[in-house]
Formats: sequence, C-alpha cells, structure tokens
Amino acid sequence: MSLVNIRDVHKFYGDLHVLKGIDLDIQAGEVVSIIGRSGSGKSTLLRCMNGLEQYDQGTIIVDNKEVSTDEFQVRKLSESVGMVFQSFNLFPHLTVGENIMLAPRIIKHRSKEEARELALDVLDKVGLRDKFGQYPENLSGGQQQRVAIARSLAMSPKVLLCDEITSALDPELVGDVLKVLEQLAADGMTLILVTHEMNFARDVGDRIVFMHQGKVWESGPAKELLANPQTTELQSFIGAVL
Ligand code: ADP
Ligand code: MG
Repeated sequence: MSLVNIRDVHKFYGDLHVLKGIDLDIQAGEVVSIIGRSGSGKSTLLRCMNGLEQYDQGTIIVDNKEVSTDEFQVRKLSESVGMVFQSFNLFPHLTVGENIMLAPRIIKHRSKEEARELALDVLDKVGLRDKFGQYPENLSGGQQQRVAIARSLAMSPKVLLCDEITSALDPELVGDVLKVLEQLAADGMTLILVTHEMNFARDVGDRIVFMHQGKVWESGPAKELLANPQTTELQSFIGAVL
C-alpha cells in the first residue's frame, strides 16, 4: 500500500463544495508538488491529510492509519505526518530549542536530555544548531521557517506537508529554505508541497499534481507535465506563473 492513499475525498464548507472527489496515491520517498490557482482546494486537501480539517466523504489513509479529526487520532497521526505552514507558527515565548523539544516531550514522552539531543540533531539538518537558545524574534523569517521544519522533523514524520512555506519570505531568504527541502528530499523524506516555486517543482520534485476547482485536474512526472500540459487550464496556469 502507498504511504498516502486518498480515495474519493469530498469536503464542503456549508454549501461550498471545495474538494470534489480527490484520488491520490503517494509512495514513500516521493516528492510531490501540488500547484493550482488560489481557491482550488490545495490547503484544504493538506489540512485534511493531517486531521486539521474534517472531510465529508471518502478516505485518507497515511502510514496505514485512517485520518480523522478525533483528538486521539490526531495525536497518533502527528507521529506520521508533519506540517509546516506559510506563517511559521513558532511559540514566541519559547526558545528555538524549547519550540522543538515540546512535542517530543509531551507526545512522545522523551526525557529532557533525549529531547535536547534530538533538537540539536534536527537543527543540524537545517543548519541552525547555533540558534538553539535564541528566541524566534531574533531570527530572520527564513531562519524561523527552517526552525519550523526542524520542529516537524523532531517527530520523525513519515511524510512532511508544506503549505506555501516560502510565500511569506523575502526573496533572498527563499533559497535557504528550498535548499533544506532539497536536502530532505535527497535523504529520502516523503514531501508533499503546495508551492509556487515552479523551478523547484520541476527540478527537485518527482511529480506534480495540478488542482483546479477542487479536483486533481492533471498529474504526472514533474518535467513532463510542465513541458507538455494536456488541459487548457494547466496551460493557462503555467503561462501565468512561469
Ligand atoms: P487554496 O489553498 O488552493 O488557495 P483553499 O483550500 O484555501 O484553496 O480554499 C478552497 C476554497 O475553500 C476557497 O473557496 C476558500 O474560500 C474556501 N475555504 C477555505 N477555508 C475555508 C473555511 N474555513 N471556511 C469557509 N470556506 C473556506
Ligand atoms: Mg492555500
């Protein structure tokens, strides 16, 4: 079975039909970029994948666990699925190290020393070991986002979901965050990224999923899909962003 298995998922906000029968399979180690216009349902799909949002029909199975918004399930799921957001969502009153140690301490019951080791280890991965004792406000946006990635990695997720994580950054800080993602991909991490970074999607990603009006409109190998879009909707989207 694939690591992520999505079958006929529908989601409504009141009368608004936001996801209209999503089918998607993602294998361990794949890097999948989700692209599409604003409002096409990309964030909603990601939020459904980690139990932040309830879906109304269909099934999502991640790492052999059916995703639900049940509090206990969401905790269990946090051991399989990590998520990083556009706004870094670090706790401002905690140091970088404390931000990272929190979930391993509370959810995985790690000792303080174990959690500390783990935090230093994941900070190494994002190149910020020296920021362990700093407060988020003293870091650049790019550094804060890398800490947010490190915080997710500390839970050893099987898959990392990233929702436009470079969109709020100054252009000169985007590259460092993408480099971290590229390294994670090279290390075999399964990544699902909602992104507007088309070069990254083409060069680092394995596959691109183009969403349009709540559906997977087109999907395929990254380079092929961008070079040879089949639908007028994807053609005009590519025309607008490239
Ligand atoms: P994308 O991430 O592709 O821009 P979203 O998943 O955020 O799209 O939104 C899809 C649609 O659902 C949009 O029409 C949006 O306005 C609507 N929507 C998103 N979140 C909510 C919400 N919490 N309540 C009502 N409508 C929402
Ligand atoms: Mg979005």
